[in-house]
Amino acid sequence: MVKSKNPAIKIDPIISLLKAEGASTVLSLPVSHVIVDERVRLKCQVPLCDSFHKNLMCPPFVMPVEEFRKVLGCYKEAILLQTEGLFDILNDGKPGRDVFVPAGRLHDLVNLGEREAFRSGFRFAAGLIGGCCRLCEVCVAIDNSRICRFPFRARPSMEAMGIDVVATLEQSGLSLAFPVRDRVTWTGLILLQ
Ligand code: SF4
Repeated sequence: MVKSKNPAIKIDPIISLLKAEGASTVLSLPVSHVIVDERVRLKCQVPLCDSFHKNLMCPPFVMPVEEFRKVLGCYKEAILLQTEGLFDILNDGKPGRDVFVPAGRLHDLVNLGEREAFRSGFRFAAGLIGGCCRLCEVCVAIDNSRICRFPFRARPSMEAMGIDVVATLEQSGLSLAFPVRDRVTWTGLILLQ
């Protein structure tokens, strides 16, 4: 049997699956459209993010941006996906916990898409979520442990790796309302090959 060289034949079913499972946006994109910017990592510390040094999938526990840039350079194709949802604004003006519900759905979809990509022959498939890993109520990093409870499901976010999500979306003709008001959109990425 002659193997197809057209990657769309393998990517399209993954896109269809992610849409069927509830992603609000799914598209394939060349990795040259993924923008890495050291200033994204700076914003983990200025101002200091709640998750810095408190989550194993966040800085300083993830690879340096420079190293990720090199790794990213080995990839050519990726799938970008999003989930959306409405959330409540609390009396103090801050978003309620429901703002993270679509982030959890995105995490599940990234895991699913990465697994399907791997099964389809993308042996270097690697998923990145949006926001910090929230599989546990409290990450073990808080207790100075480095042993993740769910190592096969936990994934770092695009932002943690230094990806400028807004600029990357713009490359694909998408925009992101920021700061969020009553509707939130979470964005993830699955590097394919
Ligand atoms: S799965 Fe749990 S322990 Fe592992 S990084 Fe995520 S929150 Fe931390």
